[in-house]
Amino acid sequence: MRNYARLATESIREWADRVNGKPNENKAHCIFCGATLDANTGYALCLPETGTMPRYICRQDRNNLDSLKWYHWNAEHRDADDAPLGTPKKGDIESTTIGLEIEEVHYDSPSFWTFRVLVERCFNVTAEDDGTVDAEFPTDKMSGANKASKMLKKLQKYGFLVFLDNDHVGAHIHVYCVNVPIIRNWYNTLFVPLCEYISKHDNEWIIERFGRTFGSYRNPINEHTDAVSHSNFVNTQHEHTLEFRLPRIHTAEQYLNVVYFWREAVATLNAIEWIANNGNNRAERKAQAVKASETLVNIARKYFGD
Ligand SMILES: [Zn+2]
Repeated sequence: MRNYARLATESIREWADRVNGKPNENKAHCIFCGATLDANTGYALCLPETGTMPRYICRQDRNNLDSLKWYHWNAEHRDADDAPLGTPKKGDIESTTIGLEIEEVHYDSPSFWTFRVLVERCFNVTAEDDGTVDAEFPTDKMSGANKASKMLKKLQKYGFLVFLDNDHVGAHIHVYCVNVPIIRNWYNTLFVPLCEYISKHDNEWIIERFGRTFGSYRNPINEHTDAVSHSNFVNTQHEHTLEFRLPRIHTAEQYLNVVYFWREAVATLNAIEWIANNGNNRAERKAQAVKASETLVNIARKYFGD
């Protein structure tokens, strides 16, 4: 039995160099595609940043990894702000379309490239430069959160969240919205109470739940805030989605909780039969928006506590 344990005198990097590419002695699974690898059919992938356990990949993914790591720019822009997948049923939370924009910072390490290819391959996304961070991965539109859940848990299991758990990067959540113009119209009424609910807590509470606090490009709002400012923590600039810009990925469970919260919040707004403007029923319409804002805070309480 080959001993992969680190020698006392060996640095993690030396360990990685020694073990990288070695075949698997025992049955293993490819961390990319999940294929079962009988003994001697996989290759060790040693990633110092993610721990001192060798991971294994299949031959095909080893070839893919080599070719894909040089390919990280795609002119074809993918955007979650696009036609939805099918027609979501109003108020059906589970089928509401979501998309995630996961930002990351470049690291000059083989582990980073493995992380990037893992995300690109499993989420079917291509990293792009958005000008503010080194790259971001806008995912495909997803019906339901199963794919996101599996992916995040996989990244966490292999220690890859280390590349996302950084102060400078966020993970914005887009949820398909059927009535963006009305939401913009009542923006401050709808979202100031949610902002106040979050910001009445101390930083520790906020970071534990959302991964980070308010800051630049995720600003808190007040009654005077411009409804279509891109840097608000709730962004209504897109035609078909409401974007929640506050969160950052700290753990898979913490981030998924925010995804579920935002999905339910937007699905609830989608289900509202907004009163049409007849020119003199502003008070009635305002009351409807106030009621919706209270519902949003109640949904937040359900996910994050009082
Ligand atoms: Zn594989």
